[in-house]
Amino acid sequence: MSQRIAILSVYDKTGLLDLAKGLVQQNVRILASGGTAKMIRESGFPVEDISAITKAPEMLSGRVKTLHPAVHAGILARNLEADEKDLAEQNISKVDYVICNLYPFKDTIAKPNVTIPEAVEEIDIGGVTLIRAAAKNHSRVTILSDPNDYPEFLKELEEGEIKESSRHRYCVKAFEHTADYDAHISGFFRARYAEGQQHMPLRYGANPHQKPACAYAPSANLPFKVLGGSPGYINLLDALNSWALVKELKAALGKPAAASFKHVSPAGAAIGVPLSAEERKVYFVDDIQGIETSGLAQAYARARGADRMSSFGDMIALSDIVDVPTASIISKEVSDGVIAPGYEDAALEILKKKKGGKYLVLQMDPDYQPDPTETRTVYGVTLSQHRNDIVLSPDSFSRTVTPKDFNLPESAARDLTVATIALKYTQSNSVCYAKNGQVVGLGAGQQSRIHCTRLAGDKADILWMRFHPRVLGLKWKKGTKRPEKSNAIDLLVSGELQPSGPERDAFEAVFEEVPAAFSQEERKEWLNKQGDVAVSSDAFFPFVDNIYRAGRSGAKYIAAPGGSQNDSAVYETAEKLGIVFVEQNIRLFHH
Ligand code: 5GP
Repeated sequence: MSQRIAILSVYDKTGLLDLAKGLVQQNVRILASGGTAKMIRESGFPVEDISAITKAPEMLSGRVKTLHPAVHAGILARNLEADEKDLAEQNISKVDYVICNLYPFKDTIAKPNVTIPEAVEEIDIGGVTLIRAAAKNHSRVTILSDPNDYPEFLKELEEGEIKESSRHRYCVKAFEHTADYDAHISGFFRARYAEGQQHMPLRYGANPHQKPACAYAPSANLPFKVLGGSPGYINLLDALNSWALVKELKAALGKPAAASFKHVSPAGAAIGVPLSAEERKVYFVDDIQGIETSGLAQAYARARGADRMSSFGDMIALSDIVDVPTASIISKEVSDGVIAPGYEDAALEILKKKKGGKYLVLQMDPDYQPDPTETRTVYGVTLSQHRNDIVLSPDSFSRTVTPKDFNLPESAARDLTVATIALKYTQSNSVCYAKNGQVVGLGAGQQSRIHCTRLAGDKADILWMRFHPRVLGLKWKKGTKRPEKSNAIDLLVSGELQPSGPERDAFEAVFEEVPAAFSQEERKEWLNKQGDVAVSSDAFFPFVDNIYRAGRSGAKYIAAPGGSQNDSAVYETAEKLGIVFVEQNIRLFHH
């Protein structure tokens, strides 16, 4: 057997001499690049320069050291007759072991004020080629890219040969090493050469101390443009989730759609359905010109109006080109930003004046299709999954369990579609109540399903109470702001109003005429008038309590996946309450 050959070219010289010693003991011929050879030689171990086989000197101040067919053919050759013939013709010997780690690109770019030429010089070319070539040919060649692996390698070498399982492990490590290295290089240049297209620096992450932060698209341009303001990290989480929601809602129901997002869950979502005079009042849009003919404005009025407290400071998504009526609603509300496929000039003018010109306006590419695989890291661990691209439509609600084979009215299928698509983009667990083409109550992010059902039901009750004649007739003190009105209405209708004390005094201070609190009986009587509500759940109902609670807030249609041990009890309860139960067999957890 001819003498085995190792090529050594390491930037990080940790453990190098022990490795050289072990290789020499096993009679392995060592070939090394400049600095690596020097260190080994100075310690008295036999070593040859790479030029011994390339017959070419290192060039261009080290830019070309190992890039040569004598090196790479020696590494890449298989135990095949044709390969052996090629090597023999060129008088090249096979290489058995490659030990290489790369220039410290990561450390260099982490230094403050690093220049582009400094970074460029740290881009390792030959080392990456050595590692990839050896890793590619791992069925014959061993590639060590991590000094921590030297002792184990030497042990196996002493015992005879490097095990296949070890070569597999080293191969994975090698490709991870070069992939991580390249990701840092492309990230460095993306930030400098593709800012605004592929890369967007963010002020900070979820919190002000989480710096640096950025958004980027690795293989294409970002699918949105910033027309006003500058997005924050949570703005983008909301914008991208809410855009997906409205795009899907419009595709499912063929009407303009809107969503009002806060903390990565919808506070409201709706399609354009004309508003009654009462709805316009309750949603604070009775002064909006042109809302009768703008489906988009109707959709946003409903999305924003459903839960005004939660929508305070929202990120808005709109499925269509934004018109003046829609922009006029937005201009009156406290909001963080909007994402839409485009803006009429006059509408953009209105939005650009908001927040002293800092209002976030994003223009989304409506044709953008995200990669089917989505990846994120949590505590350093990467999680990857196929995106939840399941398509929901009114047809998803055709299988009724009780009554069997019941034909849902069109409005019920529409409302279940709205509720269920909203859940698809809501932090789990989640339960959503919908009516009139809009979310009327959404319970998000609760660990227990009944708590979602209660939360959503309570929100639906509050919304319904806001239609009570006493609320419609409230007399406000002049100058009371919209959020103050929303807060006072919420206190009045939620049953949280205290009989006396400073909170009560503050409540009363915003009214010209202080309204009477609602008695339990009054609330009950009014809430009993609520009906035809559609309820959807992102997973099965484990207990019947959910059905009772939904029933108390006017549920007439409930859709949920099956799979609970209590399914039949759940169905029986629905039947007892006269609720149509639809089996919608797609679980929709979202995190
Ligand atoms: P040394 O200290 O031995 O002179 O250099 C070791 C470093 O050079 C290693 O980090 C290795 O990845 C890198 N390297 C090996 N061959 C080449 C080459 O042909 N060009 C460049 N730019 N770097 C190389």
